[in-house]
Amino acid sequence: MSPKKRRETDNLDQALAEVRRREKTYRERALKMYPRICARCGREFTGERLRELTVHHIDHDHENNPRDGSNWELLCLYCHENEHLRYLDAESYGPQPGGENKPVSTYKPFAGLEALLNQEEHSANDASDEST
Ligand SMILES: [Zn+2]
Ligand SMILES: [Zn+2]
Repeated sequence: MSPKKRRETDNLDQALAEVRRREKTYRERALKMYPRICARCGREFTGERLRELTVHHIDHDHENNPRDGSNWELLCLYCHENEHLRYLDAESYGPQPGGENKPVSTYKPFAGLEALLNQEEHSANDASDEST
């Protein structure tokens, strides 16, 4: 899927900048603390690819950043997304009597990041502008 429309690009940029700003503090610490290896698939990340290695919060609480790093786990983008999908699955399974649709607060810090990374790879060909 490669949507040509670029709606909400500004929002995405802003959200991403915010995520990066917040993440920066603990990401750098986590990277110093742990080997730069995805805890799930075991791939090693160096140089440019290091940006694909992300900090996962084991208890899924992004505010919980203990100094000893005990709530952090380094996961690559793909394993990180899988980890969150599993978590969401676990939450959404089971009957929901009364049909009450409580909005699930899903923190997906890297939902746009992967797309962005892909975009960067192809950006050389992407010079179209829809505005007139
Ligand atoms: Zn991985
Ligand atoms: Zn996570």
